Amino acid sequence: MKVAIDLHIHSALSPCGDDDMTPNNIVNMAILNGLDAIAVTDHNSCDNVEAVMKVAEGRILVIPGMELQTREEVHLLSYFNDLSSLISFSNELLPFFDGLSNSPSFFGHQWIINELDEITGEMDQALLTSLSISLDDAVELIRRHKGIAVPAHVNKSSYSITSQLGFLPSYLNFRMLEYSQYHEMNFSDFPRCNFIFSSDAHSLGQILDRTMLISVDDLSIDGILEALSK
Ligand SMILES: [Zn+2]
Ligand SMILES: [Zn+2]
Repeated sequence: MKVAIDLHIHSALSPCGDDDMTPNNIVNMAILNGLDAIAVTDHNSCDNVEAVMKVAEGRILVIPGMELQTREEVHLLSYFNDLSSLISFSNELLPFFDGLSNSPSFFGHQWIINELDEITGEMDQALLTSLSISLDDAVELIRRHKGIAVPAHVNKSSYSITSQLGFLPSYLNFRMLEYSQYHEMNFSDFPRCNFIFSSDAHSLGQILDRTMLISVDDLSIDGILEALSK
């Protein structure tokens, strides 16, 4: 079956995400847009994913995920089978933070929001920054948690694996790459890879409608992850 996905959406936890990117607003917009599955992938953190999954339960599928920034300034999407795997992965990233506090007036707020769209806290640790973990170690850590690593927006001129490294390391065996619809893309630069695009939405109006379709055996987290790893 073909399903419509948008697997790269930022909530208000990301400092660059709009304040109205709340769990309910994101889920409702995704449903209005006719999507079958979404992922909220905040920068270096997953603290709003549980609320999004609670809001979405029985309405739309949510893949637990995160967009991390490695020490090479590569943005790497990660997707997991369940929330607990994502949280344990996230906990293992804690030693790689630089300890700097966010500056909300400069970068934006980092709201932690519950399933009722109530702000329950604001993350102090600056999220819009590189972790000190290497790309290789990040990929290994994702896979150790049975997750799928997907290089983000590979055709962008900043914060992509190609902009930072100049090439796609073959030994990392990426099967799926994400590209941006808004930048030129040469698919032949990446032989033997499959591709998805996502919205990388930082505001509600940017969330995709039914434009990115993938084939899955069944509409489940496992089904989507299997499609991403083919
Ligand atoms: Zn990014
Ligand atoms: Zn992003």
